Amino acid sequence: MTHLNFSVTVLGSNSAIPANGRFPSAQVVNIQEQLFLIDCGEGTQIRMSDFKIKRSKINQIFISHLHGDHIFGLPGLLNSFALNGRKETLEIFSPKGLERLIDLIFETTDAHQSFDIVFHEIDTEQHQLIFQNEKVKVYSIPLNHRIPTTGFLFKEKPFPKKIIPEKIIEYDIPFSKINEIKQGADFTRNEGLVIQNTELVFEGKPPRSFAYCSDTSYFQKIIPFIKNVDLLYHEATYMEDKVGVANERGHSTAKEAAKIAKLSGAKQLMLGHFSNRYKNLNPLLNEAKEVFENSVLAIEGKTVAIDFS
Ligand SMILES: [Zn+2]
Ligand SMILES: [Zn+2]
Repeated sequence: MTHLNFSVTVLGSNSAIPANGRFPSAQVVNIQEQLFLIDCGEGTQIRMSDFKIKRSKINQIFISHLHGDHIFGLPGLLNSFALNGRKETLEIFSPKGLERLIDLIFETTDAHQSFDIVFHEIDTEQHQLIFQNEKVKVYSIPLNHRIPTTGFLFKEKPFPKKIIPEKIIEYDIPFSKINEIKQGADFTRNEGLVIQNTELVFEGKPPRSFAYCSDTSYFQKIIPFIKNVDLLYHEATYMEDKVGVANERGHSTAKEAAKIAKLSGAKQLMLGHFSNRYKNLNPLLNEAKEVFENSVLAIEGKTVAIDFS
């Protein structure tokens, strides 16, 4: 059922610069046909065209931090929105400083603005709810990088309970009562007998979750925030022989990403934010798999679907 889609499409998977046929960080999360953009490195628009992402469906953009490889695609994307006559308000969530930068670019380039942007500043020290609508809640995840950086946890809202069809007939439940029973109400029959809600319903589908953790050094403090997540995207800039460099620069190795996946009880791990030094990414994947078997590479154009468990 496509309307219950929950998937992540990789638009950019490289760190620092476009290289080896890879672009810097960007991903699109599709939750029940609502699109959310995470990070917007250079090349994001090109990748959106390549992979037929309907950019007009994006109303929220989440930026992890203000390093160039995560934001240099944003002015171009905003400019295109305006040139296409976008009217819908756009919300941008990011650490402090982005609004000033975008304002300056708009002002300096005399950019036409056809829509409003609402900037939401994220406290990168806190794990807190930063956005919700009828389908999803998004939480910040404090990360450990060289500048203030936040990860994002996307969590579906619980699905409503389902009424057991046979019980409708058995207890002669009128149509008008069905909605409140789905919300958890008991059913009182005409003669006063109360039928407990638990006898009438079964649980809805389990809500799914996705955590985006980039950029960060190995940081165990995030584990409670991403416990049992269905899909964890964790940066894996380097291989294990560069663990010293990784820690120095506020990055992780593939093995460290796998350790976080294992300790948090994630169901699947996606590795990304690869250093330019690696043309072939399979050695990184193999290092991760030694620790956490269910690991995949963030390959641009790849969509990872999160199924109901
Ligand atoms: Zn980066
Ligand atoms: Zn960075």
